[in-house]
Amino acid sequence: MRMTRVLFAVASLWSSSFLTAQNHSDPPLLIKAANIIDVDAGTVRRADVLVANGWITEIAAHISTPTSAKQINARGKFLIPGLWDMHVHLAGLSADPAWSRDLLLPLLVANGLTGVRDMGGNLEVLQQWRKGITEKQIPGPEIVAAGPMLDGEFDDPNVLKTTNPQEARERVAELKSRGAAFVKILSGLDRDTYFAAVAGAKENALTLVGHVPPLVGLDEASNAGQKSIEHILYSGIAVACSANAEELRRKWDAAMRSGAIREIGSVENAAIADYSPSRADALWKTLVRNKTWVTPTLHSTYSSAHLAELVKEDPGMAYVPKSVAAKWTSEKLQFSLAPDKLEWWGRELRNQLKLVKEMHAAGVHILAGTDSLDPHNVPGASLPHELELLTETGLTPRDALRTATLGPAEFFERTDIGNLNVGSKADIVLLDANPLEDIGNVRRIQAVILAGELLTRSQLDTMLIRVKTQAAAK
Ligand SMILES: [Zn+2]
Repeated sequence: MRMTRVLFAVASLWSSSFLTAQNHSDPPLLIKAANIIDVDAGTVRRADVLVANGWITEIAAHISTPTSAKQINARGKFLIPGLWDMHVHLAGLSADPAWSRDLLLPLLVANGLTGVRDMGGNLEVLQQWRKGITEKQIPGPEIVAAGPMLDGEFDDPNVLKTTNPQEARERVAELKSRGAAFVKILSGLDRDTYFAAVAGAKENALTLVGHVPPLVGLDEASNAGQKSIEHILYSGIAVACSANAEELRRKWDAAMRSGAIREIGSVENAAIADYSPSRADALWKTLVRNKTWVTPTLHSTYSSAHLAELVKEDPGMAYVPKSVAAKWTSEKLQFSLAPDKLEWWGRELRNQLKLVKEMHAAGVHILAGTDSLDPHNVPGASLPHELELLTETGLTPRDALRTATLGPAEFFERTDIGNLNVGSKADIVLLDANPLEDIGNVRRIQAVILAGELLTRSQLDTMLIRVKTQAAAK
């Protein structure tokens, strides 16, 4: 009951044209005198931008105002392409679709996110949202969704239990028929099952992404065509870089099956102690040669390392239902707040930053992803922090921005997103300050243009207030 009202209230924020799907008589939008960031070149140029019917139709030094056009003065402001979070879970795991559509989708948009790669959740729900967003019935980012993930014994409604090669092929074919955009795998597949899933994905023309199971080498996964590797920790990147990788992989397998962070931590410590620069170098070369992307999900590690501070203060908590935030307290997270665990996560974070620095220097393609929703990992707010963590590893602000814009475009092999060109989808964020000087400036949002629709700062604020109000009531 309440949900219907919320949806209506949020939807009513859009201009009336937004609610009439495929209406090609929308008035054009002219953005005057903007500083346009070219993410590819790392340059800024002053120009006018004309948006019509959801697309950028003209960029020029001076565009005269079409009679019907809405106009915004962007003098002194900076335009960037809409951001993508390449690792989220919006409808499953910690996010319950009963509330996550109405809270998380507007939250993402208000934070400049115009696209997400959903890495595991309820496929039919996500497809429904995607349709509603495309038809402009609900506000939200473009969603590219895996649906259920393939794993061994992990018991979750959004996991397809996959324990042998035949099951792997059947699951992949099932995902294809259900319209999954790609295949996401978790850590619990054995070698033969993993390679059968890879073969099945190829036969069905689906890309395969996810964790690299412990019994599969990272170089093998890359050579087999896995397109992106998720998480430094859970894909065993440090293990793969150790002089003892073969022996440690067997221990890694047992530790990952135990699910106990102390066991996982002790194998990871051994891997870090046995770090081999030549192994690492060979691995980076393989990833570069195969164009295998890596999504480090640094914010996720950060939130584990900084849990003691986050349970005391996390502005993100106001945007999830009160009943969910109630599980993010020191009392409820006591288990994860053991001093040795916090200290271990801190060391792990430092090693992850070091590995990302090396990968980037070697030319490995990096994607920005947060793994939200998780405790103290809230969609929207966590992505700018992921970009800041990437700059801490040594990426320039331009390179960090790339991981959430052009990187995703290249990953999806699309030219209509990722940079602001004539012919690009009109997903644009208007910033008060230059993100090439400080990547944190991606938070200073003056307006978001979502598929051609202008959302002003005051409209975004209204959306955020509504999200908070609804969160407090659930
Ligand atoms: Zn994930």
